[in-house]
Amino acid sequence: MSAVPAHGLQRLFFALWPDDELRAALAAAAGTLRRACGGRAVPSRNLHMTLAFLGNVPAARLPELQAIAAGLAAQSFVLTLNRIGWWRAQRLVWAGTERCPHDLEALAVALAGRLQAGGFRTEERRFVPHVTLLRDAGRAPEPATLQSLAWRPAQFVLVRSVPAARSVNYRILSKWPLRAMSAGL
Ligand code: ATP
Ligand code: MG
Repeated sequence: MSAVPAHGLQRLFFALWPDDELRAALAAAAGTLRRACGGRAVPSRNLHMTLAFLGNVPAARLPELQAIAAGLAAQSFVLTLNRIGWWRAQRLVWAGTERCPHDLEALAVALAGRLQAGGFRTEERRFVPHVTLLRDAGRAPEPATLQSLAWRPAQFVLVRSVPAARSVNYRILSKWPLRAMSAGL
């Protein structure tokens, strides 16, 4: 038992959540990569892109997070997943992009800024958009193993991470729309 009671704390993060079609394509890529790199594929239902990681937050502060997210008015974008990355030290293989859309970077930066201003602790490192595909991967992927996938997220979400027996379960708590790109511009 922990000396500090975890009662009332929730492990939270903001994320982009793939739709079923993109999820299936990413899961297929993970399966292929696993044969080359080893490790464990992230379960299909868990595939996501973290925008801001909060860690443990008292449940009583959820309304503050909701207000921050609701106040963002973020623009939608097209994210082209066309790159496989490998973080050797973390043994992670991930899907990312050669070019982060401006509006995705702006969303992550705005979220981090408002969270920090609101007294929440967030990741200090620069935002690197990625969807983790493999954990505990011991070998580097071939550079060209991801067929380009276009992602047009309609919303971003607040997620609660709940440890499970051999994995982790994610529960989407709330969703906020990304504003559609203006037609004709
Ligand atoms: P597990 O930790 O059980 O193996 P997980 O890493 O998927 O599973 P969490 O640790 O709850 O689950 O993390 C949720 C999301 O936040 C993941 O995308 C994870 O990569 C990211 N994340 C976790 N810790 C940090 C951190 N310190 N900084 C930035 N992102 C983080
Ligand atoms: Mg983790």
